[in-house]
Parts: sequence; structure tokens; C-alpha cells
Amino acid sequence: MISLYDTHGIPPEIARESAEELGASVELPDNFYSLVAKTHIKAEAEETTKPVLPGKTELLFYEHPFEQVFEAEVLDVVDGSVVLDRTLLYPEGGGQPADHGTLENATQVFQVVDVQKSGDVVLHKLAKPGGLQKGDHIKGCVDMRRRMAHARHHTATHLVHDSAKRVLGKHIWQAGAQKSEDRARLDISHFKRITEEELKAIELEANRRVMETVPVKTQFLPRTEAEKLFGFELYQGGVPPGKQIRVVRVGTDIEACAGTHVTNTGMIGAIKILRTERVQDGVERIEFAAGEAAVLASQERDDLLGEASGVLRVPAEQLPKTAERFFEEWKGQQKEIERLKEELAKARLRTLTAEAQEVDGLKVVVQKMGQADIDELLKAASLLAEQDYVALLGSETGKLVAAVGRSGLAKGVKAGAIIKVAAKALGGGGGGKPDLAQGGGPDVAKLDEALKVGMEKMRAGP
Ligand SMILES: [Zn+2]
Repeated sequence: MISLYDTHGIPPEIARESAEELGASVELPDNFYSLVAKTHIKAEAEETTKPVLPGKTELLFYEHPFEQVFEAEVLDVVDGSVVLDRTLLYPEGGGQPADHGTLENATQVFQVVDVQKSGDVVLHKLAKPGGLQKGDHIKGCVDMRRRMAHARHHTATHLVHDSAKRVLGKHIWQAGAQKSEDRARLDISHFKRITEEELKAIELEANRRVMETVPVKTQFLPRTEAEKLFGFELYQGGVPPGKQIRVVRVGTDIEACAGTHVTNTGMIGAIKILRTERVQDGVERIEFAAGEAAVLASQERDDLLGEASGVLRVPAEQLPKTAERFFEEWKGQQKEIERLKEELAKARLRTLTAEAQEVDGLKVVVQKMGQADIDELLKAASLLAEQDYVALLGSETGKLVAAVGRSGLAKGVKAGAIIKVAAKALGGGGGGKPDLAQGGGPDVAKLDEALKVGMEKMRAGP
């Protein structure tokens, strides 16, 4: 039943009705949705094996999300990380990175580069450990630019998730999320690729929620009460530990969530979806930017368009047509080049056969072919062999090709043997089959000599 719901989006009530129509009776457990939620969070729960430190740090950022400065006492220093009795700095969790900031005493300012939770205490990792000790009074300060960028992306994640549900269907479940200062990504369960149209609809829907300037409401509730009120969808972002859980409401999206949010959707600013990706079977990743980062991401795209316009020397709106025209023209030109090469080969062949000699009853062509590349040599030599010539062609770049037609082969003339001696004269090597062989060497000045010894090899036979 869980798999029917979770994998195929069939609600248990429907599954039960269908089963009953077929004469089967199905018991639906009261905690069905909690069971579903648990299957989703197993992976996360297994990761928390760190030892837990004693004590308790009061978390000030929930009640004072926009306050930047606080005072606190150092409770302990553990491996260079400072434990405070209270803090405004958010510890990494729920896919939201830690706040950065500073702690300062009377004489020094310490940079905080990471904040982690351990049990009920918060550890502040300093860029340069040392200098603070138990009992010190400090002033703390939050890097608000970083915090607000996280809060915007975090709150936007709720909206994108909710919008994905509206557009794609109720079966959408958050499979993971990660936020940073300039990007966020949301992984959702969905068994098809999200189409361009659906993606645009999700983006528009999320931005509409922003424009509605809906307050973001948070409250701590006893777990059982919260579950009774809001059901299993509370646990879309995972099941938090503890008897009290923090319920975050962003419009119609209601989740148990411990992250930092803006207090009104209007504070998010623009939400720009950047791309989607299939990260595993049945999981689609939506990457997006919010607030200032969304504007910067749009500007980056404009820059890309601008560059492409510059290269093709047309305004951006004419890019698709122009690119298509250029591509078609290019394809046509490729065909034309092929045709001309063919013509050239035939013309060359006429020139070559005009200068053919007769050696031991065989028609022989030994020629220099300017700067011809190996493909041209191979083509010309093969055509000559087809017309029953024995050919040795050389290029000023030091490449050699020999080919032997059926009369030559009958007499035991071998292309491989011809190439061996000729290439040796160029200070190189080569070989191949009796009917076709290639080689070359670096002493390009000795090309005439190479062709001469090659020709002697034809006469000498095998
Ligand atoms: Zn949240």
C-alpha cells in the first residue's frame, strides 16, 4: 500500500475501494502516513551517529530572526569550537548551511566559519581557534547577508515544493533539499520528466505566492497535536526529533521545519527556476535562485544571449531563426565540400593516369601530390588500384600510400612491401595489406628518393 501511494501516487483510500470492489478487505493503519514518512527519512536518521555534548544553548534566531547582535557566555570550548549559552547563529541543518559571523571579547574579534548542533548545544567553529575560554562574556554578530540569502532560498523552497504539488499532483513528495547563498535545489518524487510547460507553470505559481505577500507563520507544538492538526504532510522535509516540533506555514504549505525563513513571502523577491535534472529513478531535481540571486541568474542568462547575439551579429530575438539558418547553410556547405572533394579526386586521377608508366607489363603511377593529407592519398591510390594500376603516392608532409590492382596482385606485388622501403627512405616506417598500405617519415626532403626506391620495389616483385 505504501508503495502504491508513494511510487504510483495512488491514495490508500482509493486502493482500499478498488480492493473491496474485488471482494478483498483491506485494513488501513491509522498511522499510514507516518509510515510513509518514515520510509523517506530512514537514510537521514542513519547518519546521526556523532557523540552528543551535554548542556544547552538557547536558540535566539527563532524568536528574533532579524536580529544581528547578541551577548552570551562561553560554556565550553571543544576542539577549538566554542559552546555558548545562547546564540543567534543558525547551525547547519535541514539542508540549510550554517550561519557565519563573529564572536568578540574585549580585545579580539574571532571569525565564525561553521556552526554545528550537537545534542542541545551549538558549536561555533572559529577560523583561528584559541583566545576564548569558559566563562568569557562575548558579543556575537551574524553575517546577515548570508543569513538572509539562506532564508530567502529556504522559504522559496517551501513555495516551489507547494507549487510543484499544485502543478504536478498530490503525489509530489520532497526527497531532499539543499540551500546556499546563490542557489537552492529541491528533489521531488515524480515518475516522469518535468516538461518545460510544467516547469514554467511551477515558476509562475511560486512567484504568485510571493506577490500575494503571505505571512510565514511558525509555532512550536506538541508532536501529537501537530500531527492531529496537519497530518503526515508535516514531514515532507523529514521527521524532526523531540516531543515539540516547529510547524512552519507558508501559505498552504505546512511543514515541520527547523530552518530560518523570511516572515513574509514578499521578502523572498523573485524566484527563478534554472534547470531540472533526473537525479535517480523517480526523483526530479529542480534548481532555482531566489531574491538577489534570482536577478543575478537572470542577468547571467542575458549575458549569454548577448554573447551569442554578438557572435551571430543579430538581436537576441532573431537568434533562433538565425542559428537555424546558419546550421542549415553549414549542412549544405558540408555536402558541397564533399561533392567538390569527389570532383577533385577524379580530376587528380585523370592527371595521375595521364602520367602512368608501364613497368614489367603493369600500369604504374608514382607521383608527388603536393600537401595532400592521408585521406586524399588513400582515396586517389584506391581509385587507381580499382582501375588496375600499381600506385605509390607521396605528399610533401611525409605521408606515403601504396595500392596494388588485381594484375599487380597476381604478379605478387605487395603494397606493404613497397611502403616499407619507401618509408624507410624518409626515416620512418609503415605497412599494410598487399592491396593497400600507408606509412611515412620525417625526412620530407627525401621524398623523391623514397618514391624511387618504392618504384624499384614494384619491379623487384615480392
Ligand atoms: Zn523551512
